[in-house]
Formats: sequence, structure tokens, C-alpha cells
Amino acid sequence: MRFVVANWKMNFLSGQARDFCEAFLAGYSPSPSVTAAVAPPFHLIRPVADSLRSRQVRVFGQNGHAEPNGAYTGEISMAQLQDVGCSGVILGHSERRQLFGETDDALVAKVKAARDWNLLPLLCVGETLEERQQGRTLEVLDRQLSILARTGPTPLWVAYEPVWAIGTGLRAEVGQIREAHAFIKSRIVTLMSLNFGPVPILYGGSITPENFPELLDIPEVAGGLVGGASLDPAKFATLVKQA
Ligand code: 13P
Repeated sequence: MRFVVANWKMNFLSGQARDFCEAFLAGYSPSPSVTAAVAPPFHLIRPVADSLRSRQVRVFGQNGHAEPNGAYTGEISMAQLQDVGCSGVILGHSERRQLFGETDDALVAKVKAARDWNLLPLLCVGETLEERQQGRTLEVLDRQLSILARTGPTPLWVAYEPVWAIGTGLRAEVGQIREAHAFIKSRIVTLMSLNFGPVPILYGGSITPENFPELLDIPEVAGGLVGGASLDPAKFATLVKQA
């Protein structure tokens, strides 16, 4: 099984999302060996879920709060994400960590809450350029993954997204991806019960239809988490087809 997830980040108004879904569905046919998902901003979750559900495209949140409800102005809960049609949620994206101060501690509670509300957590991990240059990539991945020792077993997808490859056009090299993915896999096997089945490990960072086939040839790569290219319906349909 391969996985392709569109992270729309803070993009699109209603009409643009409607146009995207129409154009994407025109070029997309479901395949039993590919799981496709779209993570729209909150205000578009319901219409996108309604539009894509019949074609088995899943809809994810981009973030969620650990508490089911309460006095948390500006937040959205896992319960609410589920209520509007999400079946998963991106957690720990580097933009959440860097721009909004999301901590590993907060992620423990978020992963547990996602599991409790039957949302599949897609946990993002990855090093900054500085951390890579300092030779600390695996140490950083280890720290980010160590939260799984505190969440207990859960269905899970992981995305390796080197921060320096996000939105830069600088895709990580095959050797760098292989090393990171193999390390992530070995840590997950140690940290979590194998009873929960294999954890797909996606790559993210400057994926395009031009480079995706080469990425998919890497045995450790189960698919892609796509930012910029996922805003173009033809490109996203191509990426799903390539998977
Ligand atoms: P780009 O594909 O734009 O590099 O973004 C990757 C990303 O952050 C997906 O979550």
C-alpha cells in the first residue's frame, strides 16, 4: 500500500477548493493499492470531505487540540475534526513546531487524543539544516519519536520531512532519505508494539511529479506528504497515479 497526502496548509478559499476537487476528481481513479488524503484548512474540511468521500479520498486535519472541548480560543479538537469528516490528523508539522511553539510534550497528548477519537495520527519528524550540518539528524529524530514511548501503541503514520527541504525545491538525497527512514523504522519497532502492524513512513519536502517516481523507488519510502504541488489538482492527481 502506498500513501499520498496533500497538506494544503493555509491556502484556498471555498471556490478554489471546489474547483480543485472538481478538477482532481476528473483526473483521479481510486486504486486498491493507494490511499490518498487531503488535509484542507479547517473551514474547508466539510465541503472537501463531502466532495471526495464517494471516491475514497480521506480527509485529514492539519492540527488538533488534545482536549475534546473547552476554553481554548482559536483551537479545534480531535472530536470536532472527526465531527466534520476527518479520519486522520497531521501532528507535529515543523511549521507547528517552529512558528507556533508546539512541543514534544504537547504531541504526546495530541497523539493520544487523536487515537481516542479514531483519527489516524500522521506524525511529522525532521531536522533543520543547522541540525543536519551539526551531524545531529538522528539524535533529533530520536527525540521527536521518543514521544511514542509515552503515547502507548496506536495506529500511526509517520512523515520524515527535513525542514530544509520544505518549500525550498531542495529535495533530500536518496541516501539521506534511506538513512532517516531506516532509523525511524528501527526506533518505532523498539518503541511500539509490533501488534499494531507496520507503520508507513512517508517522505515530505519539495515533492513534485518530476521527482516522485525516484522517491517511490526507495524501498523505505511508503509514499509522500506533499505541500506546494498538492495545490495543483493535475499535479496531485499525477502524484496519486504515480504511487
Ligand atoms: P512542500 O511540498 O511545499 O515542500 O511542503 C512539504 C510539506 O511541508 C508537507 O507537509
